[in-house]
Amino acid sequence: MYLVELMNNAPRCTATSKRTRERCKAPAVKGRAVCRFHGAGGGHGPGTANPAYKHGLRSEEWIEMRKEINDFARFARKLQGEDL
Ligand SMILES: [Zn+2]
Repeated sequence: MYLVELMNNAPRCTATSKRTRERCKAPAVKGRAVCRFHGAGGGHGPGTANPAYKHGLRSEEWIEMRKEINDFARFARKLQGEDL
């Protein structure tokens, strides 16, 4: 198989153009679903390794925990209200 054929058979970017509403036809970056124009290979990962990480209180884990606590508190208040 010729190199040109290999290149043409490369996986394509899954992004859709905002302008034309058509699928991007550029080849996807190796190991990614999108091309270099659509966000492949950029940015930092999540967690403590991210330079913007401050204290972790807004991590998915903590947000989920606060939600559960608030749900419980709401439930407790509702029960209290029913007793009165
Ligand atoms: Zn693309």
